[in-house]
Amino acid sequence: MERINMVDLVGQYNKIKPEVDRAVENVMQTAAFINGPEVQEFQKELEDYLNVKHVIPCANGTDALQIAMMALGLKPGDEVITTTFTFVATAEVIALLQLTPVLVDCDPDTFLIDPKAVEAAITPKTKAIVPVHLYGQTANMDEIMRIAKAHDLYVVEDTAQAIGSDYTMADGTTLKAGTIGTIGSTSFFPSKNLGAFGDGGAIFTNDDKLAKLMRQVVNHGMTKRYYHDEIGVNSRLDSIQAAILRIKLRKLDSEYTKNRQAAAAAYDAAFASHPNIVTPKRAENSTHVFHQYTLKIINADRNALQEFLASKEIPAMIYYPVALHMQTAYQDDRYKSGSFPVSEQLCDEVISLPMHTELSDEQLKYITESVLAFFK
Ligand SMILES: *Cc1c(COP(=O)(O)O)cnc(C)c1O
Repeated sequence: MERINMVDLVGQYNKIKPEVDRAVENVMQTAAFINGPEVQEFQKELEDYLNVKHVIPCANGTDALQIAMMALGLKPGDEVITTTFTFVATAEVIALLQLTPVLVDCDPDTFLIDPKAVEAAITPKTKAIVPVHLYGQTANMDEIMRIAKAHDLYVVEDTAQAIGSDYTMADGTTLKAGTIGTIGSTSFFPSKNLGAFGDGGAIFTNDDKLAKLMRQVVNHGMTKRYYHDEIGVNSRLDSIQAAILRIKLRKLDSEYTKNRQAAAAAYDAAFASHPNIVTPKRAENSTHVFHQYTLKIINADRNALQEFLASKEIPAMIYYPVALHMQTAYQDDRYKSGSFPVSEQLCDEVISLPMHTELSDEQLKYITESVLAFFK
């Protein structure tokens, strides 16, 4: 059996090697490294895939969030509500722009931001909500959009972990995660569901004005060459990454997401109704694209399970061991241990199993049998 990895980017590359190598060589032969035709084509293809009016490629998913918030004209002191149970980038850019991150708890079963907690956290200073589509499912966007409308707030969807997830709104329309709120952001970090061979990111919106502004912000706030109307940043997706992403986008649904969902189904079946293992609950109205397959371990020692699996050469990760409000860099008088009991408990209970597009039946069998053996 092949060695089991948390993600298997080499195995994935080897299947598309001739196509990728040709595309990369083509960029090198034309030397259109920045903003070349590949970037323009990728942008259009992603717009079609997401069914969104504007995609603005940028350098990474953290920049994507920052550019979105800059374009919304948020000012120091404005409050932005997000979940405490997420990757740090979400709160980081809020803090970097001197906005005030207002953290809220998440749902204990889906791990997604809790709309009731969002509504309770709104003050006259609140300007935006940043739902995170964690692990591959879309947050409850019906409720979040209702709250945003009622309180006149922007919604920036952090879609770094959920590109391709479909959400069916109460009116029956199905939309892609990241295209429902004011702006969506994503990351093409190599291990993400649509991963480049380096860094990359993108911003999505249906708003023409915001799109125009964000295209300026990513390029030093430039309107025409050397005329700068806004303070911007330098955040570009390079042509080599775009060329690779075009190839992988064509396989995203038909192969990559399908393989992830098949691995998840195998895990689900093996762990169904186990007294110590809670399999991931599917969020309402959302498909799950399984960026992570995350179990809750109850009435058992989660860390001991992780060590046991490591002894069997099975990697397993804790996403995330510490909620944002308990991170040293984000210490704040407003929050203390116990402020967000659901997230704090999840930090002690969750464990993510290997999840990628190349898991074999043999590997899945070995992983599930090893997990079950721990509890015997
Ligand atoms: C990966 C990730 C980001 C940041 O993306 P980078 O491309 O690494 O900057 C932001 N938010 C979430 C939820 C992520 O998982």
